[in-house]
Amino acid sequence: MTDTTHSNGAKTAFEENEPDGKQAKKREDYLSWDDYFMGVSILSAQRSKDPNTQVGACLVDKNNKIVGIGYNGFPRGCSDDELPWCRNAENINDTKYPYVVHSEVNAILNSTKKLHDAKIYVALFPCNECSKVIIQSGVKEVIYLEDKYAETDSVKAAKRMFDMAGIKYRKLEPKRKSIQLILEI
Ligand SMILES: [Zn+2]
Repeated sequence: MTDTTHSNGAKTAFEENEPDGKQAKKREDYLSWDDYFMGVSILSAQRSKDPNTQVGACLVDKNNKIVGIGYNGFPRGCSDDELPWCRNAENINDTKYPYVVHSEVNAILNSTKKLHDAKIYVALFPCNECSKVIIQSGVKEVIYLEDKYAETDSVKAAKRMFDMAGIKYRKLEPKRKSIQLILEI
């Protein structure tokens, strides 16, 4: 309303012409930047073929522009149908672990510009391998939703490196619990 009201409080013709004043006000329930970028990372996780864990990541520069998106999957050219997706096997090479690229690394490799001072939004706290790449890429802040592997050596090592390298990390408390997408109009 302030942008259509004169400093003396008089209403503009534009405002008076509004039937009920509603159109003159901005929406109040718009997405916050944090919820928006976390939503993008969660949406991109839906591209993952991993039957157990789908994680997405969204990189954002200091002007709130998205500069990279990724999700967990096998390297380009390595067949989703031929490599294993299982988590347990006698030989580790019969599990997904030696082959899968995590969402954070994919987002960084897919990024469209230098990541100096960028932020990364990822639902799950990064593992130690991704943390090294995050630090080396220039990302300065990690925003996550869940830290369910906090007690693992991997996440402990990740935090140790983030602390040493001055990378901030914070748990997002989303303003809304869900965001609905309707594709059929
Ligand atoms: Zn990782």
